Amino acid sequence: MQPCYLIGLIGSGIQASLTPAMHMQEADALGFRYLYRLIDLTALGLPADALPDLLTAAERMGFNGLNITHPCKQLVLPLLDQLSDDARAIGAVNTVVLTHGKRIGHNTDASGFAAAFRRGLPDAALDRVVQFGAGGAGCAVAHAALGLGVGQLTLVDTDPLRAAALAHSLCARFGANRAVAAADSTAAVAAADGLINATPMGMAKYPGQAVPDAMLQSNHWVADIVYFPLETALLATARAKRCRVLHGGGMAVFQAVEAFRLFTGTAPRADRMLAHFDQLTASP
Ligand code: NAD
Repeated sequence: MQPCYLIGLIGSGIQASLTPAMHMQEADALGFRYLYRLIDLTALGLPADALPDLLTAAERMGFNGLNITHPCKQLVLPLLDQLSDDARAIGAVNTVVLTHGKRIGHNTDASGFAAAFRRGLPDAALDRVVQFGAGGAGCAVAHAALGLGVGQLTLVDTDPLRAAALAHSLCARFGANRAVAAADSTAAVAAADGLINATPMGMAKYPGQAVPDAMLQSNHWVADIVYFPLETALLATARAKRCRVLHGGGMAVFQAVEAFRLFTGTAPRADRMLAHFDQLTASP
């Protein structure tokens, strides 16, 4: 009997997600029976507080696991039995394994960013890095960045309280002064080895770029986590200045690679999932 899995993604406005296709194609290649369903709150006309009922329903219907996305990544925390260290420290879960009556939460956004960064910018200087955006995904990326060995991470957010709260939680986990909220973002960028965009700026709905053109220097590396589109205004500007760049597609793939491993206990072939993602996102 082939291994057999039923997985879902809970979130709002997720019809365009590439995650189901990434999981199911890889499962096909491995010879697994694997069905990945979208549980779209928007399409179902449900509020986010339907989450407890959806989780119970998924368990009762034999789901093996769930990915969780906006706006449920924090709301799911009190509904779980166990959390991975990353999920607890970050305070957000994007992967829930349902096994033996238990709900175990993980955060593969963090491990996904780290894996994509190690692959795409392997020898990048990490002494000083500035990250724009301290929201849901920004928290995971910042934890991953310090885990990768960033010396000091400066956080810039249009909501300064968010940047300060994230800096505080990062220092509690990684040590005093490893993260600061920017007092002067221009000076911080001028002194930085690299920049991370974890704001939604660059998406069609949020045109433009969080890092002003004039701040970018050719010695910066630039990582963007936006992946709709892959080539954001920020990355185009950075490329024109001959900066080394990393787009958000790698994080999207590697969060799926790790979630697949957690759901099935089998490590998928990351190279094959990356190639499939390239096909899915190639212009017609
Ligand atoms: P969010 O709304 O939770 O957080 C965004 C943060 O950016 C907010 O704190 C906001 O105040 C801040 N911000 C907005 N404009 C800014 C600016 N110009 N300068 C500084 N700060 C600014 O959103 P999120 O869930 O963290 O998602 C952010 C982006 O990350 C989205 O585009 C999303 O698609 C992308 N994302 C990518 C992946 C991936 O796998 N590549 C995974 C998750 C999210």
